[in-house]
Amino acid sequence: MRKDAPALMITCEHASNAVPGFVMRAFKAAGLAGIPEDVLRTHRGYDIGALKAFRKLVRAMRPDFSLAGTFSRLVADLNRSDTNRSFFSEYTRDLPGNVKEQVHKMWLSHRDTVEKYVAGQVKGKGKGLRVIHLGIHSFTPVLEGTVRNADVGILYDPDREAECRIADALIREIKARAPELRIRRNYPYRGTSDGLTTALRQKFGEAYAGIEIEMNQALLAGLV
Ligand SMILES: [Zn+2]
Repeated sequence: MRKDAPALMITCEHASNAVPGFVMRAFKAAGLAGIPEDVLRTHRGYDIGALKAFRKLVRAMRPDFSLAGTFSRLVADLNRSDTNRSFFSEYTRDLPGNVKEQVHKMWLSHRDTVEKYVAGQVKGKGKGLRVIHLGIHSFTPVLEGTVRNADVGILYDPDREAECRIADALIREIKARAPELRIRRNYPYRGTSDGLTTALRQKFGEAYAGIEIEMNQALLAGLV
């Protein structure tokens, strides 16, 4: 890698469907049912297959920095701002304030770790792109009866030149290796929706480029 080349960072916000012990105890103490196991096991609890894909990519691409989330998005969503209405789920929003504060601290710890890494790369290094971030996600093949007609979604901000270039390069590389895959841009979500990449763009401007790779869970099913 060239000395002035941007650093590569890979993260996986929805890697885990774990519910931390203190949250479980808080549900019990508050007389709440908690998050049902059968819901945690579905795409609502986490991005099924995403952690395996993330680990494979980390092994293959050897990023300068990588980080995976350690709790379910039904506890709090690492890919939402803490001001988003769906930051706490329907299960956690009624927990006592002190427990929600602790959950928020857990969210902050992930967010701060990522932000500090990017800030360290940007600091004192002049203009231009310093960090390329790939966020690894998966989506359910069928949502509310609608079959999603893509295998891979590449999410980015089409108004940002560097992200367009990186998205084009990724699509080219994936097509060269797996021409059978259906790839769509900014599908099944828009790259500019509220999330980690959007927050980092606002904070670091042109020094940062964030691309989310959304993979169809049907495609990841056989991944070991
Ligand atoms: Zn996700």
